[in-house]
Amino acid sequence: MSHFASPMPSREFLWDVFQRVDKDHSGYISADELQMALSNGTWTPFNPETVRLMIGMFDKQGRGSVSFEDFGALWKYVTDWQSCFRSFDRDGSGNINKDELRTALHSFGYRLSEHIIETMVRKFDRHGRGTILFDDFIQCCIVLHTLTAAFRQHDTDQDGVITIHYEQFLNMVLSLKI
Ligand code: MG
Ligand code: MG
Repeated sequence: MSHFASPMPSREFLWDVFQRVDKDHSGYISADELQMALSNGTWTPFNPETVRLMIGMFDKQGRGSVSFEDFGALWKYVTDWQSCFRSFDRDGSGNINKDELRTALHSFGYRLSEHIIETMVRKFDRHGRGTILFDDFIQCCIVLHTLTAAFRQHDTDQDGVITIHYEQFLNMVLSLKI
């Protein structure tokens, strides 16, 4: 996703956005506030799982919400995902179909079989239309990234095969932040 990097806006701009998102003026952006602020281009609420993942990523103080100090990084993250999504939504349909997902994941360096691509579309297509919306696309990419990183920790010789014990497997899965 790094080649979709957008420039960081001014502190004044970020403060203005932050205050509008922080509806209860608590000085922190909660998951609910973030969910209300984000849009997937439809009238459906933004995927709460994606909101939870993003709060977890940028909540440096561990309080389940994001302070203004960490908001710049979150703003940039969402903006970069928007340009990423738009560039892979070739037909401008507002969603990512199987072909577009394959192209996107390939460009991120994943070499996945057609079967896995189809499985991923099925898993992250929350509306049963055979396509993935913006919020679900972010979740899909974070989950794939996290699972791949966990697998690689065990796959020290990088051959794509690991042998792990039951308890190691449980430990691996239970410690994932997804
Ligand atoms: Mg607040
Ligand atoms: Mg191996």
